[in-house]
Amino acid sequence: MQRSFICPSHVVAGGLIKNIGSFVNLQDLKISFTLEGLSTQDSVVRRLLDSFSRSGTNIRKLTLAEIPRIDSKLLDSLSLTFPHLESLEMDSSRRIDFDCCTVCLEDSLGYMRHSPIPDYYANTEKLAVDISSLHYF
Ligand SMILES: [Zn+2]
Repeated sequence: MQRSFICPSHVVAGGLIKNIGSFVNLQDLKISFTLEGLSTQDSVVRRLLDSFSRSGTNIRKLTLAEIPRIDSKLLDSLSLTFPHLESLEMDSSRRIDFDCCTVCLEDSLGYMRHSPIPDYYANTEKLAVDISSLHYF
């Protein structure tokens, strides 16, 4: 039976659950980063990865919703920590504020870094090959 866990980032960041990685049958994990910013994302992600590095993982599906920054360092860390991952969903575009004015729109764009493409990888295929070749070949 597949086990799922869905929580906001403060559950991880605040240590409300000491070790998410101890849930041995957990296969589907979704964490919402709605309340995080560029300055707090790294510490939350580090706590999450540390939790799983101690205990191993069977996570098959990982979703990081509304994460402020998606970059190659994050992808690299995820591929190392979650070797059985079959599905990875990340989005930051829902953080964009289209509802007010251009100032708010520009502000919201300034608080996120949404993709290592095309600055670091030409396209999604190049990114996938480069990240996977670091660990599996
Ligand atoms: Zn506005």
